[in-house]
Amino acid sequence: MEKRQTLFHSSDQLTAKKVFDTFQNRTTKKFGQNFLFDTNINRKIVASAGDLAGKVVMEVGPGPGGITLEILKRPIKKLFIVEIDRRWAEVWRGLSELFNGKLEVIEKDALKLREEEVSPQVIISNLPYNVSTVLLTKWLANFDKYEKLVLMFQKEVADRLYAKPSTKSYGKLSVLTQWKSEVEKVFDLDSGCFTPPPKVKSTVVKFTPKKVSEDYNFFSSVLNDAFLHRRKLLVKTLRKYAENIEEILENLGYSRLVRAEEISVKDFQKLISCLRK
Ligand code: SAM
Repeated sequence: MEKRQTLFHSSDQLTAKKVFDTFQNRTTKKFGQNFLFDTNINRKIVASAGDLAGKVVMEVGPGPGGITLEILKRPIKKLFIVEIDRRWAEVWRGLSELFNGKLEVIEKDALKLREEEVSPQVIISNLPYNVSTVLLTKWLANFDKYEKLVLMFQKEVADRLYAKPSTKSYGKLSVLTQWKSEVEKVFDLDSGCFTPPPKVKSTVVKFTPKKVSEDYNFFSSVLNDAFLHRRKLLVKTLRKYAENIEEILENLGYSRLVRAEEISVKDFQKLISCLRK
């Protein structure tokens, strides 16, 4: 097979658009491939992760490498890129020698990756939309292992992450995310910024994980029950955890008619630690 990688002699020559044009890998819907070629946007995404000096970074889905190349311009210790599409993994294996041992390619489904294989301090990714919430949920279980995550989601999903109580977007994912991290919207992107353009808007979100004491599995299963039927009263959905659920809710200042969507993240923490006792 022709080694088109040899067309590039230095990393300075590379841009995502040149990589895309050189290798001509057609985009596939099945892997959520919507690429970002605008260097200014990619730089802004990477800059929002803060100081990367000496850090081990992981990116899911480099594709033609818009974000990858911006990360590699920083004084990082190492960048692991995890790519499911064999064609793009092959491209980056060929180009990796231009980066003095700082770039390592993992050809794998990120859902199947054991993070201990990589132990990143920072994760930056324009996530494939079809697996974005599953991946986030997987990382949330051990969120405090990471210092920072900067991730792109479709806007509707991002809205759920920082949603406040008593709004349409507030749900289990909002509570889990805000319990485990400081979560901030960075900026929105119109679909026209991507090739090919997706049907929906996108949003870059930054997470700064925090240490929490409550057990993740217990927290998550209470939230499952609480939000499974959003309109049901908590006294009904959480009765199995405590016979005196009315009393617990009243001590937190809520009436017995309260529903999950009205409870703040702080109060969920208090409520769940009472249910654990
Ligand atoms: N980072 C590039 C950019 O911003 O232009 C590409 C982003 S594109 C939205 C998503 C990338 O993730 C594609 O390269 C796709 O092949 C890859 N991908 C999709 N599903 C994946 C999975 N389960 N594990 C690893 N990579 C995946």
